Amino acid sequence: MVEKGKIGGNRLHFAEIGSTNTYLKENGDKLPHGTAVLADRQTAGRGRLGRSWEDSGSDALKFSVLIKGLGTDKLPLLPAVTGVAVCSSLISLFGEGFLIKWPNDIVYNGKKICGILCESRVGQSSLQGSGGFAVCGIGINLSQPQSFFDSCQLPHAGSVETTTGVKPEAAVVYEEVIRYFEKDFNIFCREGFSPLLEEYKRRSATLGKEVLVLADSREQRGKALELGADGQLICLIDGQKVEITSGEASVRGLYGM
Ligand code: ADP
Repeated sequence: MVEKGKIGGNRLHFAEIGSTNTYLKENGDKLPHGTAVLADRQTAGRGRLGRSWEDSGSDALKFSVLIKGLGTDKLPLLPAVTGVAVCSSLISLFGEGFLIKWPNDIVYNGKKICGILCESRVGQSSLQGSGGFAVCGIGINLSQPQSFFDSCQLPHAGSVETTTGVKPEAAVVYEEVIRYFEKDFNIFCREGFSPLLEEYKRRSATLGKEVLVLADSREQRGKALELGADGQLICLIDGQKVEITSGEASVRGLYGM
């Protein structure tokens, strides 16, 4: 059973921190389910596969949410649930055009606007056992200029402002993401991922596309077919169905992102 408590019901705000995910991984056992940790600046923001997340301070929104009591069977789909929630909230505020790039990026016109990093600390027997929890980290580029991303050698990154022309307010975006997260997370806990799958498919920048799968320092060309029951990407590569898991591979569209 997921523990009681609203997503974002308890909130900690830091002017500067290494990484909001790392903070929750280190302190999550003492904090209630749903705790949100926000930071104006992250000095050691992380992405998947040991990559880093570039931060520019208060023109980007960074926060992590603590999830307690989610069964290990549900854990692999948490990134997809988070992706649906963040994508829906950005569409609600800024209009259509935001898509989910597998496994957990939000893109707009081929530019990466948001990265999501879900991590877990497994307890004695399962996440339901003592000490187990998950952490969902969300980084949304709000209003950095393209020159910031160029200086970080991130030509495929963009902010809400550079892509949509609208200057977003961090507090408003935070509240909307929390609202959708609470709604979609509760649906997921009660009914599983199937009620969210149609929305995921509709918003996917990856499914049905030709992709390059980058793993073990080699590139394979294929077609992304569907999302597996555990969030894996099922691709057709050389006539064979291959399951790609997010912990091992990156997927790129054939033309850039
Ligand atoms: P991917 O899924 O694209 O392989 P990750 O989810 O691991 O990547 O996110 C980390 C990557 O995101 C980094 O390697 C970098 O390319 C990119 N990145 C880092 N900071 C930002 C940012 N602020 N905005 C957009 N992209 C970023």
